[in-house]
Amino acid sequence: CGIVGYIGTQTAVEILLGGLERLEYRGYDSAGVATILEGELHCTRAKGKLYNLREKLEREVNPAQIGIGHTRWATHGKPEEHNAHPHRDSNGRVAVVQNGIVENYQELREELKSKGYQFLSETDTEVIPNLIADILSQQTDPEDADSFLKAVQAAINRLEGAFAIGVLCVDHPDELIVARQQAPLILGFGQGEFFCASDVTALMPHTHAVLSLENGEIARLTPLGVEIYNFEGKRLKKTPRTLDWNL
Ligand code: GLU
Repeated sequence: CGIVGYIGTQTAVEILLGGLERLEYRGYDSAGVATILEGELHCTRAKGKLYNLREKLEREVNPAQIGIGHTRWATHGKPEEHNAHPHRDSNGRVAVVQNGIVENYQELREELKSKGYQFLSETDTEVIPNLIADILSQQTDPEDADSFLKAVQAAINRLEGAFAIGVLCVDHPDELIVARQQAPLILGFGQGEFFCASDVTALMPHTHAVLSLENGEIARLTPLGVEIYNFEGKRLKKTPRTLDWNL
């Protein structure tokens, strides 16, 4: 179970796969990545070894420069492809990777189902993209530059449990939103590129400038930089530290 995320100028898929390989030791039963390319959300998932995912991805040409990746250790729903992350909302606009457990997912699932959202997996995770999509659909100010961030923040405030998440939205192709609540998440800082991962080892080939997100923190990564907030939306001032590792 691990998360990686990338936004910048390189090919995201390669960076995501490399990061997932470095997180392999944490154990997993399936894996997947989502990217945004030319206004479309692309999602590729595979059961079993990362090799299976790599093989699928090699059949596609995908130069996307933003993406999220996941290795899954199933807690809710069998280790099958349809339960592998990333999970999308019913309309395919929002994609989410998650480590951990959403304890109140059943109640959220019923609520979202009654609003017409359809569920394609047995996971607890699938409520998250649908919740975010639902909140986005209710927003009234189309000019609000923080709408995606605010929607993720509002969704997180409804989740109970321990989790780390990475979120993409096709309508906000220059933003990667991540959040942490009792599950590890590290941010990595490069030149015009930014990373996230469950573990610092996944970032080492790319940058030694890192910052550990604390519980109750949410971050927006764009090609221009990283902003960190608490779950109430207050901006926090944090600076990365440089790891002195020779790898
Ligand atoms: N609870 C989620 C699932 O079963 C995430 C598991 C994980 O941390 O990999 O899909």
